[in-house]
Amino acid sequence: MNQPSIIRPVYLDCNATTPVDPRVLSAMLPFFTDYFGNPSSLNHSYGWEAEAGVQQSREILAAAIAADPVEIIFTSGATEANNLAIKGIAESYMGEGRHLITVQTEHSAVLEPCRYLETLGFEVTYLPVQPDGLIELETLENAFRPDTILVSVMAANNEIGVLQPLEKIGEMCRDRHVLFHTDAAQALGKIPLNVQKMHIDLLSMTAHKLYGPKGIGALYVRRKNPRVQISPQLHGGGQERGIRSGTLYPPQIVGFGEAVRLAVAEMETESERLIALRDRLWQQLSLLPGVQLNGHPTQRLPNNLSISINSVEGSTLLAALQPDIAISSGSACSTEKLASSHVIGALGLRDRLARATLRFGLGRATTRSDINKAIKLVRNSIRMLQEKPIDF
Ligand SMILES: *Cc1c(COP(=O)(O)O)cnc(C)c1O
Repeated sequence: MNQPSIIRPVYLDCNATTPVDPRVLSAMLPFFTDYFGNPSSLNHSYGWEAEAGVQQSREILAAAIAADPVEIIFTSGATEANNLAIKGIAESYMGEGRHLITVQTEHSAVLEPCRYLETLGFEVTYLPVQPDGLIELETLENAFRPDTILVSVMAANNEIGVLQPLEKIGEMCRDRHVLFHTDAAQALGKIPLNVQKMHIDLLSMTAHKLYGPKGIGALYVRRKNPRVQISPQLHGGGQERGIRSGTLYPPQIVGFGEAVRLAVAEMETESERLIALRDRLWQQLSLLPGVQLNGHPTQRLPNNLSISINSVEGSTLLAALQPDIAISSGSACSTEKLASSHVIGALGLRDRLARATLRFGLGRATTRSDINKAIKLVRNSIRMLQEKPIDF
């Protein structure tokens, strides 16, 4: 904090993280102090109380994706869930094959485990996307090989918000007896997810993108039709059916459950509200010269708008928006490489021209007046920068 300010910037970075909802915090608090037991200590009531909280969250998470509570494995977040899914499946199924399929626009928490597996002798196909950010099913179809063991395609993209056709991908995987993993970190609580209907075998989740605490997530691992075998990546006390050892963290888990419960209960009304605000934002910004939408216009998250602007340099634009709007260029994890988002690059838009990208992540606290303020500020900044020659 180098600059004390009374009015904080408008927060429009909800695809990076969200605040903990006060209702979530109240659900968590007793589990720090009163119900502090170890949920694995089943010899006394302290353990039972903590276990009851954990079990309730497990049931909420399972219900949210049409799974069974025993199929939920708590992790430290979606990064760990993705690592567990990809490395755990590779290790467990390498006798059947050593080929995986994923997409160029995945989060680094999927791409990096895949690259790591390549160093161990696995082969990975990184599917390209169409200019709208969606994969082409025919391209996926052609990528299957007899030795393919896993397809990993994210539900919703964290930079451009596009929703991949999960149900169709799931059917293709099911027909070929290939396991299907999806990173649903952005999608959970925002769009309906159903692991049965979508034929999903493994699904990664995280709490902090839907008003839950940071540092808690989960992996859904299918137990029947087929029964997925997954090699643990953390060995120890055998918690979570031996798949993920380590003492469970009841306050975080209870907060995660409450966050999911609220998000699911409010999904319909909140989506409608956010889509209206998001569409108004785009409608106004699209009037500016050289502005284009990134990602499919309708197959996208309700809370995401990603735009690229010609003849403006990314970090200059972000600097011009400071300190009024908290917004990001690409993903939060790659903010240091502003100009080189692998997602925007995969859309085939990159050229020699300077091009700034802005990702607006709207949330529960976003109001119409926040959006009006953002429209005014972004419009003025873009106009000002486009008039100035770029200094390379
Ligand atoms: C945020 C995010 C992650 C990482 O989740 P953490 O819980 O922060 O580790 C992974 N994938 C996607 C798509 C994300 O948006």
